[in-house]
Amino acid sequence: MNVAMQDLTRPRKDRLSLGSWLTAAVLTAVLLAVLSCVWLIENFARAHAERRATESLRQIALDFRGALDRGMAQQFQEVKVLSQLELFQRHDDVPAMRRALEQIRLGFGHFAWLGVTDAEGRVLAAGGGLLEGVNVAQRPWWQGGKAGPFVGDVHAAVLLEKLLPKQEEPWRFVDFALPLRDERGRYLGVFGVHLSWTWARQIRNELIDTAMESHAAEALVIGQDGTVLLGPPALEGRKLALDMGTIDTAQRYSDAGVDYFAVTAATRGQGSYPGLGWTVLMRMPTSVALADYQKLRGQIVMVALALVALSVPLAWLLARRLSAPLERLAAVISSRRHLGDEPLPRVGGYREVALLSGALADLSARQARQDAALTELNTSLEQRVEQRTAELQQALRQLQAGERRLRTIADNLPVLISYIDREQRLQFLNATFKPWMDIDPARALGQRLPELIGPEAYEPRRQALQQALDGERASFETEAEAGGVKRLLRADYIPDLLEDGSVAGVYTLATDITAAKLVEQHLDRLSRVDGLTGLPNRRQFDERLEEALARSRRNAQCLALIFLDIDKFKQINDGLGHAAGDQVLQEFARRLGRCVRSTDMVARLGGDEFVLILEGLHQPDEAELVAGKILHAMQEPVELPTGALQLATSMGIAAYAGGPDEVPAAAALLASADEALYRAKGAGRGCFRWAGGAH
Ligand code: GH3
Ligand code: MG
Repeated sequence: MNVAMQDLTRPRKDRLSLGSWLTAAVLTAVLLAVLSCVWLIENFARAHAERRATESLRQIALDFRGALDRGMAQQFQEVKVLSQLELFQRHDDVPAMRRALEQIRLGFGHFAWLGVTDAEGRVLAAGGGLLEGVNVAQRPWWQGGKAGPFVGDVHAAVLLEKLLPKQEEPWRFVDFALPLRDERGRYLGVFGVHLSWTWARQIRNELIDTAMESHAAEALVIGQDGTVLLGPPALEGRKLALDMGTIDTAQRYSDAGVDYFAVTAATRGQGSYPGLGWTVLMRMPTSVALADYQKLRGQIVMVALALVALSVPLAWLLARRLSAPLERLAAVISSRRHLGDEPLPRVGGYREVALLSGALADLSARQARQDAALTELNTSLEQRVEQRTAELQQALRQLQAGERRLRTIADNLPVLISYIDREQRLQFLNATFKPWMDIDPARALGQRLPELIGPEAYEPRRQALQQALDGERASFETEAEAGGVKRLLRADYIPDLLEDGSVAGVYTLATDITAAKLVEQHLDRLSRVDGLTGLPNRRQFDERLEEALARSRRNAQCLALIFLDIDKFKQINDGLGHAAGDQVLQEFARRLGRCVRSTDMVARLGGDEFVLILEGLHQPDEAELVAGKILHAMQEPVELPTGALQLATSMGIAAYAGGPDEVPAAAALLASADEALYRAKGAGRGCFRWAGGAH
């Protein structure tokens, strides 16, 4: 937790501070605002400067165009009116014409020359007498004027250059010419006027005021073929590579490496003056037209730079002012190991920080209260946990001791004890498994019973296990062999019933019943044998007689029963003693055994009474042969310590023919043999009689 807190409070190098963010944001905003303003102002100022320059140029161009058209039309009209003076329609008073022409020339300052020719082109009279007598028939103006009213384009002086007074620039003229006719309309000659081109220059000078000149504005008049008729001296007479547009077209173009704004206005003529196809071109170097704008731009850039420069410390101060209280707050918090250690001091600066500081102080106070409550709770919890732990440890120790005791008892009991879960996995085995079953309990733990003992050993246990898992106790006997010792086991499978009635597993207990079984077998044998003679006793005789009768019936073979009793045995007992009597009984038994087949049975019923069961007789008479053999066997005296003793016996014989005959009851057959014996005794002893007196 401490590590996490430190990570939060310690400024990471790859994270910018609030101050940096604010500074960057303010600077970006200022920069954007300044750049936007600069861009807007510059666009506006530039467009404004361009428009203003164009507008002023256009206005002058229009004025100049108007002045040219008006001036030309007016002068043409004046020339027309002068040509119609009566004086010029007679040609009879040349001196008068000369005087009049001279007066007109002097009165109209721009008429450099005016004169009258005869019909063949010879100058009759002229202002100042210039060119009088010269034939000008080859001059275009004369040829034009002869045909009708004529206006000729600007051209350099040809004949008059040397006659006219010298001036700074060469003389150039615009020609007016009109035919002269008499009253009857007959052609007399031509009235011609050379208008000095300085006229146009004056108009221009009047229009282009000093303000425009200071802006280096220039006015050009361009002839139809593109030649500069009027303009800066260097350009006059040159052809401009400029596409003459309409009056509405403001153009920028370069001339001799200088960029110009240019506006054109085509002359249109006026009244009878048809116009000469001139175009007025006003131009101004763009550097001059945009000078104010350039200056303004420079100032704007300076102001913008100043603003940006000023905003850097301002932004830094603002950022500092915003972030310093936050950093103070962070320092206070990070100096605490825990928020609720002691009350947090309040940090001011501005409203939000005060709010945050207040909220943190409240949080700190709440945290302190919660910490106290938690500490208290923790202490009581720890005490309870300690107490519980001690109790649990005590219980665990007792449990472990109990388990150890149980384990020791279980391991030392001559019983196989195990616990098998529902998956038939062995969860517990006591140590007895090793000597009795050759199973190592540690290795068998967790294994399934079928895999552990193999299918052959599992099979006799399978049903009992299933029965126990179904909730019913099961018992069975089985054998086990280990270390060369065979054991007979009695196993009890006891279900581990849970409270809800389900079976969690099975407890198995198996005891070694080998010894008990032997005793039982021995006792059983003893109970069926006569102790003195070793012959089957009455009990065994009863069992075997039933079996023999059943066999006889099944095999349809005859069965005979010979009931014997020693004659006068009481006398032997009485005379020679009970032990001698016993010896006699034993010898009697031995001799009976020798008289019958091994399949026949000799039993002692008690006292001196014996009985023979003879099976597999072909006919009842065969029993007499055996009876005869017995009588004969008894003839030999019995050797006793006291001397030889003669024995005799009496016999009663009863028979059952076997096969379909009804099987007599064993007791009835014996009773009938006894009855026959009784008769034999009655007949003097030492003989046999047939039951029912049949023989
Ligand atoms: P009978 O010719 O009519 O048979 O005369 P008996 O003297 O033999 O008379 P009985 O058969 O009634 O006598 C049997 C006697 O056998 C009686 C009894 O004292 C004697 N006895 C019975 N059991 C034993 C025994 O185990 N050992 C000895 N020594 N004597 C026995
Ligand atoms: Mg007897």
